Formats: sequence, structure tokens, C-alpha cells
Amino acid sequence: MIHVAAPEIGDEEIKGVNDVLKSGMLAQGPKVAEFEANFAAYCGTTYAVAVNSGTAALHAALFVAGVGPGDEVITTPFSFIATINPILMVGATPVLVDIDPITFNIDPTKIEAAVTDKTKAIIPVHLYGQPCDWSEIKAIATKHKLLVIEDACQAVGATYDGVKVGNLGDLGCFSLYATKNIMCGEGGIVTTNNQGYAEALRSFRQHGMIAPYEYADLGYNYRMSDLHAAIAVEQLKKIDRFNEVRQRNARLLSAGLQSIKDLELPTIVNNRTHVFHQYTIRLRQTFPHSRLDFMTALRDKEVGSGIYYPNPLHAYPHIKALGYKLGDFPAAEQAASEVLSLPVHPKVSEADIRQIIRAVQELADV
Ligand SMILES: *Cc1c(COP(=O)(O)O)cnc(C)c1O
Repeated sequence: MIHVAAPEIGDEEIKGVNDVLKSGMLAQGPKVAEFEANFAAYCGTTYAVAVNSGTAALHAALFVAGVGPGDEVITTPFSFIATINPILMVGATPVLVDIDPITFNIDPTKIEAAVTDKTKAIIPVHLYGQPCDWSEIKAIATKHKLLVIEDACQAVGATYDGVKVGNLGDLGCFSLYATKNIMCGEGGIVTTNNQGYAEALRSFRQHGMIAPYEYADLGYNYRMSDLHAAIAVEQLKKIDRFNEVRQRNARLLSAGLQSIKDLELPTIVNNRTHVFHQYTIRLRQTFPHSRLDFMTALRDKEVGSGIYYPNPLHAYPHIKALGYKLGDFPAAEQAASEVLSLPVHPKVSEADIRQIIRAVQELADV
């Protein structure tokens, strides 16, 4: 079976964890500091502060940016639920803006109409590993004095005009969940060039602590452990190779699938690199199978696939309750009904790619 996601774990990660276990110091310590320094250097930012999930990273970023009750935060309806929940966790109101159907990212031409005098920040998502339309978003943020918090959870290593994601906005949020481009089981990290934010992030992840048993503000226990950081340190050394294999696999898939007329293949926009966290196609209305039947038939041919995401965020009860209804974001709704992701991760070999292409061809009208 060619799975749609699988972590790539080497002897280095196993040795790293063993070394931490033998050291007897398991909680946040030198390995976390090492990971933070290396991650900041990789992204080109001055600071990186590790936490224990991408969700915690987004929550912490919103908190230190001062986003709270009465504030509005603009984001996309087509993402993982963890993009939007942290906005609610700080007591602010999410305001959704439809996506560009080509890139699946927030449509910058629709953002300005959603800005009000309550808008405090924008959270663009670099969905599937392709950076958002940064220069357009930056221009709107500058004009209206809005903060930008990047949801870069799927895009570590991706670039826009040569600048790494996480170093574009005021704060960048990453996930190291088991299926992400680099992982440590569960983990997250926030990047920034702002010293005040970095200090506040370190405090927020540790109960608001500023000195031993001195608590200056609300905080959580969002610390990463050295056991997790030991995995993350080794994964980060391999990130460029991981992303190159994903990009090669994506190229081979697109070359093999381009003749199938009822499929729409991923588009890479000119001034950016796409790190293919997901290789996501659309099944057009004319495709000869329903999406679920197609997935089952692929599985029978030992090819895994996944739907990211089957519903737009405003379909979920606690988001719908903000006053949204189906029909509000047609591009996001159509994407949710048509997308399918095929295996592209670094464990997928060239032979696997041939098998995936053959399986799709056998089920499609060529
Ligand atoms: C994975 C992910 C998150 C959340 O990360 P966790 O580590 O699972 O908490 C947030 N946003 C996006 C777009 C993600 O893909």
C-alpha cells in the first residue's frame, strides 16, 4: 500500500531520542534551544520559539500580537480547523474571505472588502505548501495597519521571491505533527524578528512566567520536550532533501497525469516555491467516478489518497454560528467537494509514482 502520509524516521532520530532518555533530562532544555536556533537560522528570522503543536503556535502568536475580544481576524474558509480555532481561543472574531480556485489560498482581491475598523490581523495559510499571494496581502496589511500571522504549518522551506515563509509576516507558525514535511510526533514553532514578541512567546508557553514563580500574564503549558526536540533537530537537517523529493514526485505525477482531461492538476505560481505538503488534484464534474468511489478503487490498487479538506470551515457548527451559511464562499465550497490528494511524501519512490499514475489512468477516461 502506498500511503498518503508516512513519517521518514532514520537512525539519527532514534539515537537523538535515546541520548535524551539517557541524559535523564526529558522536559524543555538544551535540545529545544538547539532546535530553536537552527530553525530560526533556516527561516532567516532572528527568533524561533518552540511549542508543543501548530495549534499552540497560532494561539501563542495571536496572544502576543495582542489580538483579543472585540478584534476581527481575517482568514480563509479552506484550511485545517486549527487555523481558525485559535482566533476563537483568544476571544476574537474570525472573518472569512473566499479562496483563489487556482492556488487554493485566500483570494487577496477579496480581502479589502472584509476589513473593518475592528480588523487587527490577517492569517493567510500557505496551503498544501505553496506560499500565499504575499505582496498583495502585505500591501493591504500596510495600508490598514494590520498584523500578518502566517499559518505556515504545511509549508516549511517554501519561498516567496526567495524569502522563506515564516519570515514574511510579523509572526510565522509551523507544525511538526507526524504527517508534516518535518515532524517530531507532535510539535510547533513560531518565528519572528520582533524581540518583544519572542520574549512574550517564551513566557506564554510557560504559564506567563517571566522569572521563577513570577507570573506576569496569562499563559499555558505549551512547552516542547527535549525528547520531541531531539527528533525535530534531526528532521530539520533533512528538510531540503525531503522537500526536493516531494517536488520531484509532484513533477513526475503531473507529467504522468496531464493527459487525463477530467482532472485538474496543481499549479505552481511563478515567484514562489511549492514544497508539496500535499499533491492535490481536482476531479472535474465529468470525471467518470464519484470521489469516494475513486478513492475506494485506488485503494484496491494499493494507492492511498486523502481529502484535505472535505468541508469548508463555515460548515462546522461553531463557525456557522458566527452567521455564515453555505453559499457564502463558493470557491472554497467547490474545492472541498472536488479535491483529492495523492501520495507525494519522501517515502514515495519513482516506482510508486508509476504505480499511482497507472492506477489513475486505469480508472479515468484517457
Ligand atoms: C497541521 C496544521 C495546523 C495545526 O497543527 P497541529 O500541530 O496539528 O496543532 C494548523 N494549520 C494548518 C494549515 C495545518 O496543516
